[in-house]
Order: sequence, then C-alpha cells, then structure tokens
Amino acid sequence: MALKSVEEYIESLRKLNIEVYMFGKKIKNPVDNPIIKPSLNSVAMTYELAQKDEYSHLMTTNSTVTGEKINRFCHIHHSTDDLIKKVKMQRLMGQKTGACFQRCVGMDAMNAVYSTTFDMDKELGTDYHERFLKFLEYVQKEDLVVDGAMTDPKGDRNLSPSQQTDPDLYLHVVEKREDGIIVRGAKAHQTGIVNSHEVLVMPTCTMKKEDKEYAVAFSVPVDTQGIKMIYGRQSCDTRKLEAGTLDRGNPKFGGHEALVIFDDVFVPNDRIFMCEEYEFSGVLVERFAGFHRQSYGGCKVGVGDVLIGATALAADYNGVPKVTHIKDKIIEMIHLNETLYCAGIACSCEGHPTPAGSYEINMLLANVCKQNVTRFPYEIARLAEDIAGGLLVTMPSEEDFKDEVLGKYLDKYLKGKNEIPTLDRMKVLRLIENITLGTAAVGYRTESMHGAGSPQAQRIMISRQSSLENKKQFAKDILDIK
Ligand code: SF4
Ligand code: FE
Repeated sequence: MALKSVEEYIESLRKLNIEVYMFGKKIKNPVDNPIIKPSLNSVAMTYELAQKDEYSHLMTTNSTVTGEKINRFCHIHHSTDDLIKKVKMQRLMGQKTGACFQRCVGMDAMNAVYSTTFDMDKELGTDYHERFLKFLEYVQKEDLVVDGAMTDPKGDRNLSPSQQTDPDLYLHVVEKREDGIIVRGAKAHQTGIVNSHEVLVMPTCTMKKEDKEYAVAFSVPVDTQGIKMIYGRQSCDTRKLEAGTLDRGNPKFGGHEALVIFDDVFVPNDRIFMCEEYEFSGVLVERFAGFHRQSYGGCKVGVGDVLIGATALAADYNGVPKVTHIKDKIIEMIHLNETLYCAGIACSCEGHPTPAGSYEINMLLANVCKQNVTRFPYEIARLAEDIAGGLLVTMPSEEDFKDEVLGKYLDKYLKGKNEIPTLDRMKVLRLIENITLGTAAVGYRTESMHGAGSPQAQRIMISRQSSLENKKQFAKDILDIK
C-alpha cells in the first residue's frame, strides 16, 4: 500500500498511543479533539490530493527505492524537476488549506539525512545510509507522516551544549547499549507531531568534539515510551470549541506545534543514523535548513494566495475593487508573494546532484528565499489589514449574528455592497483575521520569521555562500586593478 486514503491515514493515527497534553490535561483521543482536528485536516489534504488525477503529477511520483507510486512528501528528490515540483506542490497545498500542512518537515529531514548518511559512510565506513534506506522504504510503503525534529531548547545561548548547567537542554545520548541508545532532551516547536507517525530527530547545530554525545540522529514511532508532547497555544484557539464556525476564520484547516520531551527514550540500532559523528552535524543541519528554506518559497506563497484572494474579496464586498489605491495595494501584495515564489523556484532550478545521487537546492538562493519570507508576509499582512479595515478586529461574534434581536441590527449595519450577504463579508474578514492574527498566524507570520531558522541564520549562510572575493575581482577586472 504505497498511497493511503484519508480514512486509512486517520485510522492509522487512531492506532497510535501517543502521550499528548493540552491545558494541563492528557488528551485521550487526539484524532477527534476539536482543537487538534483542523491541523489533522490539513495533513489529510496531502493524502486527499494525492488520490486526485488532476494533482497527481505534483502530489505523487515513483519511488527511487521501490519503484512504486508514492506521495511526494515521502520522496527523495532526484532531479531539479523533483525540486521544482516540490515547491509547486507546497504552493498548491497552501492554497487548498490556508494553513501549515505540516508534512514538509519530515520530507526535508529525510532528504537531508539521505545524503548526509551517504557521505558519512563513505568517509567513516559506517552503515548509516543502509539503515536509513530501510527506514525510508518503510515510510514510503506505509505512506507515513514523518516529523522532522531539529530545534533544541538551547538554554543559555552563549554556552555550548556540554557547557550548560543542565545537560538535557540539548537532546543527547545518555546511555549506549548493545541493542541501541537511550536519549534524553526535548525538541521545541515541533510542527505537526501530533498528526505524525514517526519523529526523525537531528542535531540542532554544528557540534564540536566535546559535544559529541549531542551529535545524534534517529527516528522512532511517535508513541515510543518516554515521548511526551505538550501542545502549543495559538491565538484564538479556543474559538474552535465554540458551536459555530464563523469566528474560527478558517473553518476546516489549521496547523500546530508542540514541545516534545524525550524522557529517556530507547532507540534501536537500526533506527540510529548518527551517533557521535560530530563532524557531520553541521552539514546535516545546513542541508535540512536549506531544504526547509526552499519549502517556504512554496507554502507561504500558497497561504499568501489565500490571503490576497480574501483581501480582494473584502474590497469587492466593500464596493471598492476599482479604487486606484486599493488596486495598487493588491498588485503590491501579488508582487511580493510572487517574488517569494521566484526564489523558491530559482533555488530548485539551480539545484545540483549530491554524491548520494539525490538532488540538493542551491543553498545561496534557498537562504535568500527564506530571508525574503522573514519580511514580505509581514508587508502582505499589513496591506491586507489596510484594505480589510478596522472591522477586522472589532466585529461581534457569530452568536450575536444568530441572536433574534441583535442579528437584524448587525445584518443591517455591517452590510457592505447591497447584493452581498452581510455574513459573507464577515466570513472573509474572519479569514483575514485568522491568517494575520489568529491560529493560522503562527504558520503565516511568526513562522515566516523563525521557522527554518531565524533571519540571522540565513544572513550567515548568505555571507558564506556569496563569493564576495569573485565580485571584487569583477570590479577589479573592469578597472584594470592588479
Ligand atoms: Fe510545510 Fe510550510 Fe508548514 Fe513548514 S511551515 S511544515 S514548509 S507548510
Ligand atoms: Fe515551518
């Protein structure tokens, strides 16, 4: 079974016995929890679209391991065409959900681990790549969601992992056994972990020799004993507990993050992909970050499309779609959004093969892509709020609209263009609120800043990749400076 149906995916999650907490309580049935459900629906869309003929060229491909048709989220890119289709698939997914669909972190982690384990084996004589191939085959055959886990809590940022007063602030190996290792620590901001089957852990930064116990990569099922998830709060999250759907903004879809604790978790040997090879920690981090920075040139653009569409509708419903400054502001939003897409596509077109045979993006352009993402969605959101108007944050609740007495006043006084039902105008404003300020703002705004690495991380990579000396030489050559 290389392609699961939505129902099979949901059933497979039900079989997992994960330990997840929210508002101080253990959640017995996460699959049907109203706060978690919208995020599950977003991941489910990766399964749903893979079954549709019109999207199968983007959503599916043939496995390089088994030859079978698989979901692209489980694929190892083997050409620039694969890299381009990945970005297009993410834009499509963003358009269909208006939210973070979570499955990319695992895809990006698997691609990074794939080429890094190959390089490690070649240089060190280890057998990590073979182990990883077996894991990959399992993921592809079962069509699993893998959560890529990189970010450690980090404690005092001025101290290295081994210098911390509390040694667990970076995830590390606490015991080596004949049959595997025991790890302890935590991973923060884990996108989609509650909707995943496996968690693929990587080191969080370049490790030095004295930090080698922190240079560890592995994958385990998310319900492995000792793994605890503490669900992250989002602005307006409890609106999902209310009866109606209007105030949710996005009635069906969402995303989530969680703090994941690894409380002495056992990892069997065949699931260990790095253990103390600190020399390869930096390259693994760089590759994962590179792939994930490429990803943002797809997903954020797709959500941006929804936001631009909603903003244009708000203008229509206010009766002002033809006013010059409104038109110009929407053009500016489109320009910014497509500029993000340009970098996502460009770093894919300029991709190159790795010694493992897989394809990697152009690192400089992927970092430029993400650096733009730390800025443009903020400006797009600002313009959306400008056009939407203040009602975006002052409109009454759905209950007031439904109220026998109040409803008629709201319907009358919050009306825009005559032929547009007042409630439709409210729906559009709530969607804009959701993406810019509500639950989806995690994935669109703040995640644009910090997801796949905070802005300074990209600037370091841009500086490293930019061949400034070559540029100086160009100037010197023109000026005949020896
Ligand atoms: Fe995918 Fe974007 Fe969500 Fe990251 S933020 S998991 S790239 S949708
Ligand atoms: Fe992210």
